[in-house]
Amino acid sequence: MKELPKQGTPLEPLLATLREGKRADADWRAGRTWSLVYPAGEDVDAVIREASALYLFENALSPLRFPSLRRMESEVVQMTASLLHADAESGGCMTSGGTESIVLAVLAARERARRERGVERPELVLPVSAHPAFAKAAHLLGLETRRVPLRDDLRADPAAAAALVGERTALVVGSAPSYPHGVIDPIPELAAIAAARGVPFHTDACVGGFLLPFLERLGHPVPPWDFRVPGVTTVSADVHKYGYCNKGASVLLHRRRADLRRDQLFRYDDWPGGLYVSFGIAGTRPAAPIAAAWSVMQFLGEEGYLRLQRSVLDTTRRLLQGIAEIPGLHVLGPPDATIFAFSSDVLDVMAVGDRMDERGWHLDRQRGPDALHCMVTPNHARVVEPFLADLRAAAAAPGQSRGGEARYS
Ligand SMILES: *Cc1c(COP(=O)(O)O)cnc(C)c1O
Repeated sequence: MKELPKQGTPLEPLLATLREGKRADADWRAGRTWSLVYPAGEDVDAVIREASALYLFENALSPLRFPSLRRMESEVVQMTASLLHADAESGGCMTSGGTESIVLAVLAARERARRERGVERPELVLPVSAHPAFAKAAHLLGLETRRVPLRDDLRADPAAAAALVGERTALVVGSAPSYPHGVIDPIPELAAIAAARGVPFHTDACVGGFLLPFLERLGHPVPPWDFRVPGVTTVSADVHKYGYCNKGASVLLHRRRADLRRDQLFRYDDWPGGLYVSFGIAGTRPAAPIAAAWSVMQFLGEEGYLRLQRSVLDTTRRLLQGIAEIPGLHVLGPPDATIFAFSSDVLDVMAVGDRMDERGWHLDRQRGPDALHCMVTPNHARVVEPFLADLRAAAAAPGQSRGGEARYS
């Protein structure tokens, strides 16, 4: 077991050790990984570095001590609300990421179900493709889950959802898009089923929240998913995904600010330390992701996001077309945005993934059906040709699969 060193290490050798340690890590800068990091270019990196450095030591627990943080958080929430067509009645907060936003949405729905309908044993109705953060939220908050099967097009089946919604349902969920297949669930149908029963509905736009508004402006067909859909009561959107902020930044929005205050806010007034108020799971909160999210949004503006998302969309189209031309491979869905999975009826697609690993490309593995996963970023524009060439070669001679575990992210 490693022990704390007796003597300290000076900065320079320390940094050398860190750099050495990173050498075996994923080389996402080269565009050879297809998940986890969303690089937007050196200029955005510089904004993130500088803004974070200015706010590395502050604590976003108390907005009273740091009014600049309070203002930036409020403006990030407002800018996100306007992108998602929420009106002036809406309210929200920033969280550490998609998972925290989702846990808080489930918490607020559980509280509301108890308050309005006396639900004591709440249930969560969600597509099988919904992110594991919902299962985690249900586990943490004591809800049972009812899983909605997918139609052949990999979108949640509204008829099956309708049969699962009942007295105990606290929340119905849909994804825009889902992470595994990059498809948007039929949000208007699902939200209407929830609304008819007086049940709130959450659109999980963790990955799509900062992408779909711009794809729509670019003329790409985007099925309805945001606050323009009646019945949608909360939406999660991660700034640290296609919003191109560094990690630790997501937004949770409520259609009505009153719900945020009543069902999400935690207030504790019986402590010698004084009144304690918090919207999220964390107490002490890092300030840097708030400053970075605000700064990246100001730096890019609508124009910058349109430029980046257009590039991601073009890259995705080239990839989809290239994969369609490779014998034996087909893309699942079809996908609605810039995330997709491809599979095969004739090849061992996991073996294809292993051959791609050997060529230095890292694709996540999926099950049901077996598939390889691509989340496209601006960084991938320059690797389309070499990627497709290697994929063609891997599919021509897939050989044996190493039989590794499916990995999800
Ligand atoms: C990433 C993601 C989440 C979870 O977000 P984290 O930031 O990883 O906690 C939830 N839903 C979808 C669709 C996602 O892509």
